[in-house]
Amino acid sequence: MLKQSIPEELLKREAWKYYVAIFAWLIYLFLLPWAWSCSMALGFVLMVFPGVYLFTGMGFLMHECWHRYVPNVPNKLFFQIFSWLLLTDPQVYRLLHGSHHAEVNSWEDLEFHPFGRIKIRGLRILLNIFELIVGIAVLVIVQTFVMMNSARFRNRFKVSSLLIAIFMWTAYLVLIGLAAQRAFLVPVSGIVIPYVLTFWIGSLVLHHSQLIEHGNLFVSGDWNERNIKTRNLDPRGWAEKLFIFLPMGIRRNTFFIMCCLQFIPVLFPEGSLYRRMQY
Ligand SMILES: [Zn+2]
Repeated sequence: MLKQSIPEELLKREAWKYYVAIFAWLIYLFLLPWAWSCSMALGFVLMVFPGVYLFTGMGFLMHECWHRYVPNVPNKLFFQIFSWLLLTDPQVYRLLHGSHHAEVNSWEDLEFHPFGRIKIRGLRILLNIFELIVGIAVLVIVQTFVMMNSARFRNRFKVSSLLIAIFMWTAYLVLIGLAAQRAFLVPVSGIVIPYVLTFWIGSLVLHHSQLIEHGNLFVSGDWNERNIKTRNLDPRGWAEKLFIFLPMGIRRNTFFIMCCLQFIPVLFPEGSLYRRMQY
């Protein structure tokens, strides 16, 4: 058994963030239509902060739940809740994230390259352009499509999970949207437009920060060699500082996040395709 390098007491102190992130996101969505109706500029400011900050934060905490790093939170339940709040089907990330760690910085990383190596250059460029414009939402759609149609995932992918996810997305957005409409008497367009924008900007920033760490990076070599090439942002410029801040500082510590699996033995959840890793 590998030695755990972060004391359990320190990890346990992080538990409150999981509850606050969920609560703050729901409050944010409730207030956003009001801010948008006061002034579009105010709406945009809130979309950047706290909007993007909370969006990427929930993505990060979803990741932490997957690994079960913080022992005193209901990781399985929170993983599902974060997935639904981010408008994804929990099973997609649950099944694919192990591939990212096992095959990082190679075409076999199915989370980042769900189609594998696309042989036709034009199609590769087209997917890249969509990723740049739409963000991580494009990858999630492609991941879902590939899993539904791949023999490898046929026995693992459950249509019921996707249907439940669609129901959850609809239910929570409609309920909060209705509450905001009642409270602030805003038109439906004043709810739909800022909601679409906030998910789009969140999707963009989350994916662009991932592109900084792994984009266009294909390394041949063993697991350690591939991990060590993972990029970080240099935080000396103001733009870099902002871009590090928005995804909750994650990109400053990417290298640690990628390599800490060697030191923290809580690795891969049940059902993962990559439960055993070779170091
Ligand atoms: Zn991970």
